[in-house]
Amino acid sequence: DSIETLTKAEAEALATELRPKLRQWGEAYYTSDAPTVEDSVYDQQYAQLVAIEEKYPDLITPDSPTQNVGGAISTDFSKVAHDIPMLSLGDVFSKEELMDFIDHITENETGDYNCELKIDGLAISLQYENGVLVQGSTRGNGLIGEDITANLKTIPSIPTKLTRPLTIEVRGECYMPKQSFLDLNAKREAEGKPVFANPRNAAAGSLRQLDTRVTAERKLSTFMYNVADYEPLTSRTQSGMLDELAELGFTTNPTYRVVKDEADVDAFIDYYTQRRDDLAYGIDGIVVKVNSLPIQRQMGATVKVPRWAIAYKFPPEEAATIVRDIEWTV
Ligand code: NAD
Repeated sequence: DSIETLTKAEAEALATELRPKLRQWGEAYYTSDAPTVEDSVYDQQYAQLVAIEEKYPDLITPDSPTQNVGGAISTDFSKVAHDIPMLSLGDVFSKEELMDFIDHITENETGDYNCELKIDGLAISLQYENGVLVQGSTRGNGLIGEDITANLKTIPSIPTKLTRPLTIEVRGECYMPKQSFLDLNAKREAEGKPVFANPRNAAAGSLRQLDTRVTAERKLSTFMYNVADYEPLTSRTQSGMLDELAELGFTTNPTYRVVKDEADVDAFIDYYTQRRDDLAYGIDGIVVKVNSLPIQRQMGATVKVPRWAIAYKFPPEEAATIVRDIEWTV
């Protein structure tokens, strides 16, 4: 709201200040897996930049963090081009904003929605040829990722062979279960090594290892939730795709729910806001997606986010909860 009161010159000055700061924080977070500020701080300043650029679109610069996915790509790994870009997600921080987004897309008769948990990990892509895993990569900057095939092959939930000989690119989230994260940090602390800030950074740091034995020890897991192109599948809905991916041998998150209206979305959010701590893995929100895959395709994407999905982010966790968990393990 504070942006509303700024003159254009003031808004431009603020944007010029925010961009390098966000870029630097993004670099620490995405490239080094070691964030230097809390996510909520990043999110709040990012939201300010979005508000400025929405009000004054001519102030948008192509290198703005709002126009680019993720961070840099490590030279430790070979590069993989994502022919179909791996995107981020638009996010909202209140139910009002979420319902506005849904109202807006409902105008186009989009039908049902699929509600999913937003897994707090990092996006991966798996390429299969005739049912055999041939390549696995990180999201990188969305257009180019890192080749981490050997690392991904150490993760038990990733099938190296599918139940049908499909040629398909499957995408999803790699994460570190909460208990593995606590155990890993306790061990690192005992060894005098720096601890990971959160399970997401621990997963990213564990996956992007030159020595795949390290990755293998880190107890990573995956939930797959997307395909680059749905043609090889028989299902034509997001929920049907999740079922089909499970039949093919992938681990999918079982909590998804097809919903018809905003009241159902609201109930899904409340249900998982209350049960969040009971899950074995971290979630940082929920994702609402248009359920029809052809309509998803029709709606397309901006340079950074799909137009058919939105993430509702939970408020930042109470510091006390995090401290309690760590004390309990150490
Ligand atoms: P994001 O992680 O908020 O959302 C997009 C990602 O959600 C997707 O790429 C995918 O990997 C993931 N996802 C999880 N479950 C999903 C599901 N069911 N369906 C679809 N996607 C799912 O966006 P981002 O652009 O990767 O990163 C922004 C986040 O990173 C923010 O939360 C921000 O706070 C944090 N960040 C923090 C810092 C810092 O310095 N602390 C810096 C940069 C970014």
